[in-house]
Amino acid sequence: MLFQELVRALAVVEATTQRTAVVRALATLLRNAEVGEVDKVVYFVLGDLKPPWVGLELGVAEKLCLRALSKASGISLSELENWYKRLGDVGEVARRALASRRGGLVASRQKPLEVTEVYDTLVKVARATGGGAQDLKISLLTSLFARATPEEGKYIARFVVGKLRLGVADMTLVDALSEAFGVDREAVERAYHLHPDMGKIARHVAEGRPLGEIKITVGVPILPMLAQRLSTASEILSKLGGSAICEYKYDGERAQIHLSGGSVKIFSRRLEDITHSYPDVVKAVREAVSAGEAILEGEIVAVDVDTGEMLSFQELMHRKRKHDVSTAVEMYPAELYLFDLLYVDGEDLTREPLIYRRVRLSEVVEEREGVHIAHWRLFDNPEEVDLFFHEATSLGTEGLICKSPLSTYEMGARGWNWIKYKVDYRSEMVDTVDLVVVGAFYGRGKRTGVYGAFLMAAYDPTGDMFYTVCKVGSGFAEADLKKLYDMLQPYRIPQRHPRVSSKLEADVWFTPGVVLEVVGAEITLSPLHTCCLGSVKPGVGLAVRFPRFTGRYRLDKSPEQATTVGEMLDMYKRQRKVQL
Ligand code: ATP
Repeated sequence: MLFQELVRALAVVEATTQRTAVVRALATLLRNAEVGEVDKVVYFVLGDLKPPWVGLELGVAEKLCLRALSKASGISLSELENWYKRLGDVGEVARRALASRRGGLVASRQKPLEVTEVYDTLVKVARATGGGAQDLKISLLTSLFARATPEEGKYIARFVVGKLRLGVADMTLVDALSEAFGVDREAVERAYHLHPDMGKIARHVAEGRPLGEIKITVGVPILPMLAQRLSTASEILSKLGGSAICEYKYDGERAQIHLSGGSVKIFSRRLEDITHSYPDVVKAVREAVSAGEAILEGEIVAVDVDTGEMLSFQELMHRKRKHDVSTAVEMYPAELYLFDLLYVDGEDLTREPLIYRRVRLSEVVEEREGVHIAHWRLFDNPEEVDLFFHEATSLGTEGLICKSPLSTYEMGARGWNWIKYKVDYRSEMVDTVDLVVVGAFYGRGKRTGVYGAFLMAAYDPTGDMFYTVCKVGSGFAEADLKKLYDMLQPYRIPQRHPRVSSKLEADVWFTPGVVLEVVGAEITLSPLHTCCLGSVKPGVGLAVRFPRFTGRYRLDKSPEQATTVGEMLDMYKRQRKVQL
């Protein structure tokens, strides 16, 4: 197919406001293309040379494109840069430059461009790396611009700088394909969900092969299932038919993990290959999963290196770097919480009920450091769901994802079989609190030999008791931990102090004596802590979420002068609530 023909269709698509007209134009285009170039036409329309997980990027900035245009048109770079400043669209600059060529590189024979030729040249541009890559990219682009008509140049320029922006979604192409080749739309969609490479599917259809041949392929991400959202446990349970598998909603990055004979690939929610960011997760998965081939889903979460506690999503974002990944791995360790198994050793489990997939997941995964199975329970009572929800949020997760136990895995769909139950506001803890150390947990890693985290309590003057509000492990320098270990030695007792009320079992207990200043993200409800138990809601107390030692030892305060439970309750009620 001549490139002109493709460009004419792109212009129609761009000028149309009606979706049906867009679908019609694309269907005609696909029908007119040769079988062997249908995939290339599709990639052009979508604005990418390959599907996202292949990670083939053109690496062409506006400046580089303008340099190629300058060579091809004979118009100086500075003049083109001025045009670009004025017009703001590299495509329009290309069109005008090629329409008013002043010599420049004149192509030997003005043979019109073919789709395949343009596509193959652009793949070469993308693959050019290392020394001399810039020059090679420029000369390849110059050769295209030299032969392009002004209109063709416009689309080539926009494509290479990543600004084609035709607004054609994959689903529009599903419709166009089904119209062009008379195949069932749902079959195209299902094939696309299993193998979201539109170019490949178009070629398959154009070759007249049955779509049923397209199967889950280890190494090719499938479109992830998404969740709806509701705000009360009773609504959620009734929507799910009375009972639900409720799982902690971990706050990290979604990961689809493909394992094949010891090689592991991790794909993001947007189908990009993110394996290079997580070598630690790759290693842990290899050790934990006992299957030759598997596709698993989970959430990667940042954890505190010393205490193992979960950290917020922002911490994990430090891992998103291209260079020096090993330092990032050390500084910002991450763990994986698996919540689904979609494929194992030749078996496609996506059409099996969730409860069965969960059982199979626990059969193939042996939990260990770095790999866990997402914490879950089956409930049919809203009060129990609420308790579990408060437990989840107080541990640093975002809430729960409640799932229908009998649901299949609905690829690419945001249906009502998965429902998010999350806090719809974030409170801000404005003030610090002074809390009493009543227990401690042994450290691991660098904290072996000292305590890794401390059980902290607020004071209740009415009953002269101490009630726990958090386990704090963050904010301590190495020297603090050593100092606290020695400082707490005289307070150590063999069991919980009678003036301490705690649901958690500490490794070591202390007589209330040492007071530390702590700050957190907010005060939340939690069934794990005893502070103000039942005051706001039956069965739940108050807790500090994401607590951190500020560095201030309140040696000037006796434990009875610590923050009181009444103050905690006031602070909880006064918190500024920020809508998310
Ligand atoms: P969405 O992914 O639904 O488009 P979003 O990016 O805003 O929207 P959230 O609203 O935070 O995400 O919730 C959905 C996400 O929660 C999932 O995509 C997944 O990354 C994450 N998640 C955490 N724990 C679980 C779990 N147990 N089951 C499913 N998803 C989970």
